[in-house]
Amino acid sequence: MGGRSLDRGQFSPGSPALPPIRGFLESSFIDWPGRLCAILFVGGCNFRCPFCHNHPLVLAPEALPEIPFAHILQRLTPRRKWLDGICISGGEPTLSPALPGLIGFLKDEGWAVKLDTNGSRPEVLETLLAGRLLDMVAMDVKAPLVQEAYDRCAGVQVDLARIAKSVNLLQRSGVAHEFRITVAPALHGEEDILALARQLATAGSRLKLQNFNPKTTLDPRFEGKQGFAPEEFGRLARIVAELAGSWA
Ligand code: SF4
Repeated sequence: MGGRSLDRGQFSPGSPALPPIRGFLESSFIDWPGRLCAILFVGGCNFRCPFCHNHPLVLAPEALPEIPFAHILQRLTPRRKWLDGICISGGEPTLSPALPGLIGFLKDEGWAVKLDTNGSRPEVLETLLAGRLLDMVAMDVKAPLVQEAYDRCAGVQVDLARIAKSVNLLQRSGVAHEFRITVAPALHGEEDILALARQLATAGSRLKLQNFNPKTTLDPRFEGKQGFAPEEFGRLARIVAELAGSWA
């Protein structure tokens, strides 16, 4: 891959060889199941999900300072004994043409890499999977693959064929992956959730249901809305887990 051509001398802010990194978390226990990972946040996204909590990264990434990659490497290198990998999140990282190069470099440095994606760029996912550059992928799936429902949850008109292709690529990939479904009563009925879980449940795929949290949402009107009540969410999560488990 072209990624192998990166060298440390290219790691200056604004280098076209790097996606702009707008956020950096040195360690997280919750973003990669069973692993402790660092997270790099790439700015920019092509969706406008009303419940998005990362909206500064989505709406105005250039207003956030770009973190020099040399600084990130300086912080990561002494931590590699206890870090299990690096998660690349966003925003939507696959929008950056420099993403394969960055991941190629990290893999060459011996890091395991997880990618978070909304699945709208299957051609990027395909390239990364074919190059064996990913150890784990988490794909957010917003709604059942029905145009009106998906557009409402993503806040833009979505090409569903591209989403379906990404789902299919992951299901056939042999790479560890998780489909994440963030649910909100204002957007999803029980039937929507179960229909989506049925569409996604296949052997080897993890399904993760996440409850909507009304804290700092992209669409301010969603800050006044509620997530599912804990008992109701627990019930739905158990049904989804059973659907997923039936394929295990
Ligand atoms: S939640 Fe939606 S808008 Fe926010 S980063 Fe993910 S895909 Fe983009």
